[in-house]
Amino acid sequence: MSAACALSEAGLRVQLVERRSYLGGRASSYLHPGVGEVIDNCQHVLFGCCTNLAGFYRRIGVADRIHWTSEMTLIEPGGRRSTLGPSWLPAPLHSLPRFLAARAFTIGDKLALVRAFRGLMRPIPGDSAESLGAWLARSKQTKGALDRFWRLVIASALNADIDSIALPYAAKVIRELFMSSAQAGSMGMSTVPLGELYAGAVDFLRQRGSSVLLNARVESAAWDEETSRWTLITNAGALKSEILALALPFEAMAKLLPRMPAAKGAGGLADQLERHEHWPVCSVHLWFDREITTLEHAVVSASRAFAALSSEQAVAQALGELSEFFPAVRSAHLEKSALVKEVRATFGVSPGIDASRPASISPWPNCFLAGDWTATGWPSTMEGAARSGHLAAEAICRSVGEPRTILNPDLKPRGLMRLAGVGASRSKLGKGGPVRTSKTV
Ligand SMILES: Cc1cc2nc3c(=O)[nH]c(=O)nc-3n(C[C@H](O)[C@H](O)[C@H](O)COP(=O)(O)OP(=O)(O)OC[C@H]3O[C@@H](n4cnc5c(N)ncnc54)[C@H](O)[C@@H]3O)c2cc1C
Repeated sequence: MSAACALSEAGLRVQLVERRSYLGGRASSYLHPGVGEVIDNCQHVLFGCCTNLAGFYRRIGVADRIHWTSEMTLIEPGGRRSTLGPSWLPAPLHSLPRFLAARAFTIGDKLALVRAFRGLMRPIPGDSAESLGAWLARSKQTKGALDRFWRLVIASALNADIDSIALPYAAKVIRELFMSSAQAGSMGMSTVPLGELYAGAVDFLRQRGSSVLLNARVESAAWDEETSRWTLITNAGALKSEILALALPFEAMAKLLPRMPAAKGAGGLADQLERHEHWPVCSVHLWFDREITTLEHAVVSASRAFAALSSEQAVAQALGELSEFFPAVRSAHLEKSALVKEVRATFGVSPGIDASRPASISPWPNCFLAGDWTATGWPSTMEGAARSGHLAAEAICRSVGEPRTILNPDLKPRGLMRLAGVGASRSKLGKGGPVRTSKTV
């Protein structure tokens, strides 16, 4: 969607093809038949540092549907609360006062965490083979810091065990969410079902002469050298275009690969795809007859794995845990519930994964790759997806001889972080006027 909208704005005619009856992929909402409610495919959050996702929302006119908050409440069993968030101090010290006051951590935990944060400010080679778990062991983290910070906040942000997370990705999350600036670490949530956001994308595309084709699964693609055109075979018929952008999850890309034309480099891409693995996410949706908390959101410690449980077991466990944290649950009546298990939720960012994340240029002529798993430097997130789309759109504009900047720049570090010099800069291209090509994507 991000590539399609950016290209359409640049003046290209785009046909967006989606196998489902709605847009949004893993970050979508749908009518759950069991409860008769439109639910998100799990609560999706973004952060201030997600500049490309925000850029995409601005482009399609839905940025005002995102509610921002800068506080994170940590609740322990027994109900004790600690609130993390910014203060007037300059970055990276802005989170320090509330962190030092947080009762969830002992003095030993706090000293260990400050030591680790300082360590993660130093440059880390992108190809570091060290896992977060191994690095934390070297950095002598306490049990409290491991259980209540690293496993709770960072492992859930990256949706993997600490031993399966590459150190540079953990460092990125720490820098962006807690050190770079208060703005970068603020958290955003959609105030409307995710699907409603994308209605803006459909209107945006149609108003610019582009189209959206739903219920059309791409089954194969053929390149005609003579006419320099792609033919896409879908279950809804054949489509033609001069340029092809494949923004599939890595499993779907691996499935399509044998049905793409033979090309030098396709074998290498197949090897890269094979090295990816997915991680599950389960979400429990509960409807009570009354308000159980005035908090907008909370991070609960000691939450146990849900993936192996049946729906009834998962709901019972969630209720038990919730009543531990929010006593009002005990007197509330549960009206309905839904468990959503997404087995292929996110791709893992294990050490060495960057070698298996291809850039937008593909092995085929006039064909470009996007999707959260491609080379964006970001973990499996909506920002990674939006960024990959903007990178693919830039590559497409370059390929038609009309280079322009589409990628939204990162937020600049604030306060003392400006002196730290971490993070890459990028050479700038102009915004450019409409592209002078009649090619379709
Ligand atoms: C439960 C869950 C919770 C998450 N929480 C967060 C969060 O809080 N914050 C966050 O930033 N990210 C979160 N993520 C990750 C985020 O949803 C993904 O990283 C992002 O949506 C990936 O976008 P994508 O466009 O790369 O891939 P997808 O969203 O998977 O989109 C690919 C699209 O291609 C379509 N498709 C597949 N095969 C074909 C075919 N052959 N022909 C036509 N169409 C096809 C699919 O139907 C899909 O619409 C979460 C993911 C899940 C599942």
